[in-house]
This record gives sequence, C-alpha cells and structure tokens, in this order.
Amino acid sequence: METHQPVDIAETELGQLEHALTEIGRPRFHARQLFQWIHKRGVTDFASMSDLPRDLRLQLAEHFTLTTPTVVRKEESADGTTKLLLRLADGKRIESVCIPENSEGTTGTLAADRLTFCLSTQVGCAMRCAFCLTGKMGIDRNLTAGEIVGQVRVLCRELDALDRRFTIVLMGMGEPLHNYDETMKALRILADDHGLAVAPRRVTLSTVGVLPALERLATEPLMPNLAISLHSTTEAQRDALVPINRKYGIEELLDACRRFPLKRRERITFEYVMLKDVNDTPDDARRLVRLLSGIKAKVNLLPLNEAAGIPFERPSDVTVNRFAKILADRGVTVSVRKSRGRDIRAACGQLITESTRNAAPGRQLAQLMAGTAPTR
Ligand code: SAH
Repeated sequence: METHQPVDIAETELGQLEHALTEIGRPRFHARQLFQWIHKRGVTDFASMSDLPRDLRLQLAEHFTLTTPTVVRKEESADGTTKLLLRLADGKRIESVCIPENSEGTTGTLAADRLTFCLSTQVGCAMRCAFCLTGKMGIDRNLTAGEIVGQVRVLCRELDALDRRFTIVLMGMGEPLHNYDETMKALRILADDHGLAVAPRRVTLSTVGVLPALERLATEPLMPNLAISLHSTTEAQRDALVPINRKYGIEELLDACRRFPLKRRERITFEYVMLKDVNDTPDDARRLVRLLSGIKAKVNLLPLNEAAGIPFERPSDVTVNRFAKILADRGVTVSVRKSRGRDIRAACGQLITESTRNAAPGRQLAQLMAGTAPTR
C-alpha cells in the first residue's frame, strides 16, 4: 500500500525539489524560485511567495509541508552571544548559538563585523566526553538536514542576519560525523547558489574523529574546514576523556589527518580542552608538538568551561599561557579560545536541553563502538 507522507521541502536539495515539482505536474524551473524564497529570503509561507502563480501556491500547500524549528527561548549574553532554544516538529529540543565577533572587541550582534552560527547536528550526543555536558544527555536522535539548515533560517530571522556575513561551526550539540549523511546534505543545501550560498570554506566541522566517516569526508566534493577534538596526547588519557578513542585511537586518527586532502594554506585545527592538573603540563605541550609534526595544523586551546557535574577544573591563565608558549616557541600556530556566552550557558560543551532524558547513554556508546548503534 502506498503511504502518503507529504514531502517536507525543508529537507530537499534543489535537484530533489525539481523532481518533486515535476511529480505534481509543474515545470521544474519553479523549484529555483521556491528554493530562493525558502533559503535565501527565509520565507516559509507559500502564500507569500509572490512571484509564483497563485494556483501553484495553493498546490504547494496541498502537497508539501515546510517545517522550521520554533523558538522556545532566546537568551542574550552580556558579550552579545545569543542562544536559541528551539523546538523541533516532534517536540524535541536543541540549542543553536550566534557569536558576534568584532575586530575592535566591542560586543553586541548589531555592531559585529562577523557572526558565527554554532549549529547542533543531533539531539544530545553519544560520545560522552568526560568534560562535556551535552555528552551527559546521551543521544536521542539525529537531526535531519532540514533541521540543521532550519537553525540557520531561524538564526538569520532572529538576528536579522540574512544579508550579513556569517560563518558556521558545527560545534553545537552532537557529533556531526555520527550523523554523516544528514550533515553533508545540510551543507549542500546551505552551499547552493540559489540559496544562502554558504561556501564550504565558511563552514567548520568539529569532530572527535569517527574514523570511517572522516575517511569518507576526505573524498567529498564539498569539503568544510576540519577541526579535530584531540584533547590528549596519550592513548590512555584520551581513552578516559574521549571514549571513542578506545575504538579509533590517536595514532590512527592522526594518520587519517596526515592523509586528509588540504589545499594550499589550509590547515586542520586541533582543539585541546585544558583541564587543570590533567592535561595542562609542559610535558603535555611538548608531546602535542611531537604528535602534530608533519601535519598542517593549528591548535586551539579551550580552557574548560566549568559546570556542575563536570569533574574537572579550568587551569589558571598562567598555565594556559605557559602551554601556549611552548607550542608557539616550537613553531606551532596556537590560539586560546575566549569562551563566549558562559553567563547563559552557551559556551562549548554547555549546550544541554532538559527535555531529553535518556536512560542509557553508556549503552548507546557501547553500541556505537560495536557498530550497531541506532541513529534515528
Ligand atoms: N562533537 C563535536 C562538536 C561539539 S563540541 C566535537 O567533539 O568536536 C565543540 C568543542 O567544545 C569540542 O572540541 C568539545 O570537546 C569542546 N568542549 C566540550 N565540552 C567543553 C567544556 N566544558 N569546556 C570547553 N570545551 C568543551
């Protein structure tokens, strides 16, 4: 028996949209117009798409749905960072963040030269990194491509940013390479010239290093910048901090990074969360330099954002600077991430939504490592 689920055109790439239109007996060129309304102008009400024939607008409403996450709460930090709590069609909740950046260091989204959108790729996360609050939730489900793109649509609307220049980091809730297909589809929709035309070089994908997916990423025509959440210089310590390391260890991960195709001047970012008296010593810094030799790398130090329930402390600025200097003195490009939006819990590793309660995050990770994890 045929099921009649209406197509949600928030989920379709341009080519699929053309196909969907021909299926309802309409010329495919309308797909471009429709795609522009949705992605370039952020309009999701068919009736308002004024350059489409009236009967087509009615037909679209009859045959298709067009879902956008709704804003449950909007919080603005003293430093201008905005965090949105969004509700998805099935009631699940995720968070998305906009971080304004300014050359002069002034704050506020309106004054900013550049906006960075931090997007979620999953409801929760299965990776259970020891210092990350999102990891404590466990994973509920993957986001669809439409839900990932939808976060951009909502951020643009809420921040009046459709005509602003922005970059995207996949550093919100979830592990993008654990939701490979929908994440890549979202990047294709975002990159389309008829939509927002966000070039892949304006996107950074951050990952713990799910190796098969990383190898696959290396073959993609559309390639975002890559950031690797390394956080440790020994297998034993990374096993404890980033549990997926027990399956895909540092050595294999760095080998994959060495093979990763990079254009001239491109580099892989290595993120290193700094935990007081755990991984912040001069020895750690020197080991990090050795590990990264032969890789076109830059290091981003992330002094821990502390939170209740996270059994680590943030090292002092002196310790962070000493670590950074050891890297810099040995020719490794290093930056220290200023954490933004901490007063509204919008900083790295602090995104968490109460509605998701998950009974067995430990079991989920075990399934993932055994290659049997359910993803949706
Ligand atoms: N799952 C992806 C992207 C999400 S997190 C990944 O792990 O790369 C983005 C970055 O914030 C990661 O490097 C993550 O390890 C880091 N992070 C998580 N919790 C943090 C915390 N409490 N303080 C500082 N950084 C944290």
